[in-house]
Amino acid sequence: MNVEVSRQISELRESVARLHGELTRYGLVAWTAGNVSARVPGHELMVIKPSGVDYDDLSADNMVLCDLDGVPVEGELSPSSDTAAHAYVYRAMPEVGGVVHTHSTYATAWAARGESIPCHLTAQADEFGGEIPVGPFALIGGDDIGKGIVSTLTGHRSPAVLMRNHGVFTIGRNARAAVKAAVMCEDVARTAHLARALGQPVPMAQADIDALYDRYQNVYGQRSSPPANS
Ligand SMILES: [Zn+2]
Repeated sequence: MNVEVSRQISELRESVARLHGELTRYGLVAWTAGNVSARVPGHELMVIKPSGVDYDDLSADNMVLCDLDGVPVEGELSPSSDTAAHAYVYRAMPEVGGVVHTHSTYATAWAARGESIPCHLTAQADEFGGEIPVGPFALIGGDDIGKGIVSTLTGHRSPAVLMRNHGVFTIGRNARAAVKAAVMCEDVARTAHLARALGQPVPMAQADIDALYDRYQNVYGQRSSPPANS
């Protein structure tokens, strides 16, 4: 492996390890559940969380480098049990640079009912461009989860899918954007749950949802940094 690729991989090991701290900081995961991965840009490789390691013990060194079939190519630990799903997404969606999976409580409650989250909030219009969709039920192992994620999110504005009876998968142009989508997904799922519990949420006009999404994706934020980093 040449020096440039090694440098790229060690930076991704650092950032993927650090981004796992956001999952605990925002209360999106319990025990060792949940995982973040990043594609190594320009290479058929990805960096992902090891399986069954405590969040407190995650570091750049124990992240696992895998090929895009999910086979480890560096490191001694086994990769996350969700590696096949992440790998499938990278193979099928070349624009995706980061994938996150959680069972965050409120979003997963919508997944348990097999119900998409309707867009009744400006923040959801900004980040998700409309409803957050439900994906099919799929058993872990093999490509079924990956296929469900890709078939639901291809051509959809939302970077998050609620896999039925399971939990949340998010995608982004990099791992940080996918983590942000996971945090925002849980945030809007919680508010939508409370709104529904207390009454009937007021619908938003599609034209307003479109305008908010367009502004947030194309105008919002500092000129020097793209919206996904806001
Ligand atoms: Zn899961």
